[in-house]
Amino acid sequence: MREMTTWERPFCGALRAADAGRRVELVGWVRRRRDLGGIMFVDLRDREGWVQVLFPEEPLKGAAAALSAEDVIRVVGTVRPRPAEMVNRDMATGEIEVVAERLELLNQAETPPFVVEDSVNASEELRLRHRTLDLRRPEMMANLVLRDRITFAVRQYFHEMAFVEVETPILTRSTPEGARDFLVPSRLSPGTFYALPQSPQLFKQLLQVAGLGRYVQIARCFRDEDLRADRQPEFTQVDVEASFIEEEDVYALVEGLFHRIFPLVGIEPPRPFPRLSYAEAMERFGVDRPDMRFGMELVELGDVARGCAFEVLVKAAATGRVKGLVVPGGAAFSRKQLDELSDLVKPYGAPGVLWFRRTAEGFGSPARKALGDAGIEAFLAAAGAGPDDLLVALGGPAKVVFAALAALRVELARRLGLIDKAKHAFLWVTDFPLLEWDDDTKRYYACHHPFTSPKPEDVALLESEPARVRARAYDVVMDGIELGGGSIRIHDPGLQRRVFAALGIDEAEARHKFGFLLEAFRYGAPPHGGVALGLDRMIMLMAGRDSIRDVIAFPKTTAGNCLLTDAPNTVDAAQLAELKIRPS
Ligand code: ASP
Repeated sequence: MREMTTWERPFCGALRAADAGRRVELVGWVRRRRDLGGIMFVDLRDREGWVQVLFPEEPLKGAAAALSAEDVIRVVGTVRPRPAEMVNRDMATGEIEVVAERLELLNQAETPPFVVEDSVNASEELRLRHRTLDLRRPEMMANLVLRDRITFAVRQYFHEMAFVEVETPILTRSTPEGARDFLVPSRLSPGTFYALPQSPQLFKQLLQVAGLGRYVQIARCFRDEDLRADRQPEFTQVDVEASFIEEEDVYALVEGLFHRIFPLVGIEPPRPFPRLSYAEAMERFGVDRPDMRFGMELVELGDVARGCAFEVLVKAAATGRVKGLVVPGGAAFSRKQLDELSDLVKPYGAPGVLWFRRTAEGFGSPARKALGDAGIEAFLAAAGAGPDDLLVALGGPAKVVFAALAALRVELARRLGLIDKAKHAFLWVTDFPLLEWDDDTKRYYACHHPFTSPKPEDVALLESEPARVRARAYDVVMDGIELGGGSIRIHDPGLQRRVFAALGIDEAEARHKFGFLLEAFRYGAPPHGGVALGLDRMIMLMAGRDSIRDVIAFPKTTAGNCLLTDAPNTVDAAQLAELKIRPS
């Protein structure tokens, strides 16, 4: 009963008032069926939404009465305007309906494990197990469609900017992003392994040495980390590298991209993006990806702590940092709310917070005995706290103080409703440290990766004060979420050797790990740099979702499992034997 070719057939969800009078063929899934005053109504759903189809007369009416949810049908009918009182403004197709003349059942569905609706109340586990049904829900399908539109716009932008998309290998060597590799045993060379790329870092640099000049790739990356709620073992980056480029070129390129793609969802990024150095971001927000949609910045309490009568704070100021934040209106917090503050910082290794306030009953603080009223007043004054405010303070090792206050700041802002969801804050964080000391292994690690260039003015400190060397590295941040980062790379073999030395990588190890790159660099490596942007996260933010799993067609759980296919799974003994792997 085909009346139209597939390419002429409209989507059910795309029919509008302008289609009234059109004879159409529609295919899709039965969303639901209703019997209203002797007329049979079926909501017919496809990728774009759904439309109401009427079956007013027998024998069609009877055939429609036998349909159940998720049956696959074909309908031929005529689009007509709905009577005025039946128009549904909440529905994209709400001004019209389709009067059916023909109906064909293409496939019958069993009763699905959950109702395919946006208001689904099935657990995420059930949704992931039946991902096909989950994706059939209009909001999930809309996420996939949005992802395609954004990815297309990204490709178009880079194409216009004279970038070339190059595919780099998936079966490769270990790459230097600092996470654990996924390994793939080689059958042809038993005992050896490929690594899945943590990023195409080395290949995109090699392409610059080759002379490509401007590289982009929508690249799948793999990192075998313990997964946090918003991470996936495989994820997608918009991976970019270009030659003869400086920081300002990268900022302009990425800002241009964001001005192209964010307006697609009604978000207008600023021009230009504000910038903060890493050091300033840490001092003011305690974190290198600050959410700047609200204030409540950290305040410095080192000086007042040093001179105060509370031994614990004096010591903390001498050996670490004492900082705090002023909670607007927090003076009225209940005892329970105050106790909760300490619970919030405990996961970050802080024993608890100190608080200071002045209420109708006078000055208050758990440290009142030691500090006296004047001492409390000194802290409130140093923090610039107003009469209704609460000062929350924390002393200890810098790492703990920053991390705990940063988390507290965001959580309090959320609870106090200080975050305006309609507002968005983009920024660049610049001048990251080149190296980070690790107390457990007693050595420095590259904050970004070992090919990141130090700032020329800091190169002299590489041997004497490595911790003070700043990198030509940058991150782009939106609403407290890191969207991506990159750096200008080292192209001078002498400087690369010095950075390897600072990282405790000797010549032999450097040759073993990155020999092919260093070799290529001998024959004319251009100055180059790049950036990688997390596509999943960007699309999550654009779709207004809280989980990247909602914008990935077939995601894994936080335990790294695909509930749909049951991966990872065991394999045949014969497969292992071929790989010369003994089952344990
Ligand atoms: N390869 C880096 C990353 O994946 C980004 C870059 O330096 O371009 O984080």
